[in-house]
Amino acid sequence: MNAPMKSPPSRRGGHALDRLSVVVPVYNESAVLPAFHARLQQVLDGLPLSSEVVYVDDGSCDGSAAVLRRLRVGDPRVAVITLSRNFGKEAALTAGLDHASGDAVVVIDADLQDPPELIVAMVEAWREGHDVVTMRRAARAGETLLKRASAGAFYRLLNRVSDVPIPLDTGDFRLLSRRAVDALRQLPERNRYMKGLFAWIGFPQKELQFARDVRAAGRSRWSYARLLGLALDGITSFTWAPLRFAIYAGLLTAAAALSFGAWIIVKTLMFGDPVAGYPSMMTVILFLGGAQLLAIGIQGEYLGRLFAESKQRPLYLVQSVQPARDRRSLAEEKLA
Ligand code: UDP
Ligand code: MG
Repeated sequence: MNAPMKSPPSRRGGHALDRLSVVVPVYNESAVLPAFHARLQQVLDGLPLSSEVVYVDDGSCDGSAAVLRRLRVGDPRVAVITLSRNFGKEAALTAGLDHASGDAVVVIDADLQDPPELIVAMVEAWREGHDVVTMRRAARAGETLLKRASAGAFYRLLNRVSDVPIPLDTGDFRLLSRRAVDALRQLPERNRYMKGLFAWIGFPQKELQFARDVRAAGRSRWSYARLLGLALDGITSFTWAPLRFAIYAGLLTAAAALSFGAWIIVKTLMFGDPVAGYPSMMTVILFLGGAQLLAIGIQGEYLGRLFAESKQRPLYLVQSVQPARDRRSLAEEKLA
């Protein structure tokens, strides 16, 4: 455990031998993949680094697999990891990071909302010695006012209650140095709220601004229900504040009920007891019932996550690995 970290610090003059991995989670993106890869290819060709592109096929059922196979035939840098079913973006990202072999790894969406051209600036920031280069969205083109407002409110809430600052308006689009990737891979939790995990590992970080484009084709899989689920994941995996909130709310209502009771006793002694207040009783009962259900629900959220962790299931299952053709032997060695 105390052995020094194997990977050297990222501060270095910049070796042409450095290798960049680009991890791309793919779920039913056959419509945009060819355009995406063409743009990515141009960027990678211009970089003074060797590179690999790790596509993680997250159980696509729209022919993305065939498109990826074609891309791999056309470009020796392309590796394709196929998961056994749809595990969700966070698991797909983890699979990609586990298989990426580069000295730095860029995580990018396939839908062209994250412009691949920015990788040049990200690599530059990495060469300056930053381990994590996050991309902050300056503008969110093509997203409804409601989505923008809810995302903004969520990040602010999360930051108020969580112990590590989680940057506002940053998605998963980012660059990680090798030691940041290794650190991330040590985090064993099943419930992977990636934005939070990225922030938790620390290391020198740098934030770049960019304007997020609209999806080039296809549609976002994030319904409001899924976003709410993600928000719950984010909050419950990074803070105990809601549990504490339940304690405070319970204490407060108990105290209020006590003083109310005391007041009723005094009132009865002084004025006798005319018709008792049915409405006020209903109000108190309903309020307490609601508060109790809320507190139980909050506990259930944490219990459910504890349950998921205790099962120790793998985060994803790999169906097949097609290594990059220019590194076949090395990747096969790793698998064996
Ligand atoms: N994605 C995935 N598995 C999923 C859902 C999405 O790998 O279950 C991928 C998707 O192909 C895309 C990226 O994650 O490359 C972002 O997805 P999306 O555009 O739907 O999310 P948004 O941009 O709205 O956050
Ligand atoms: Mg998208």
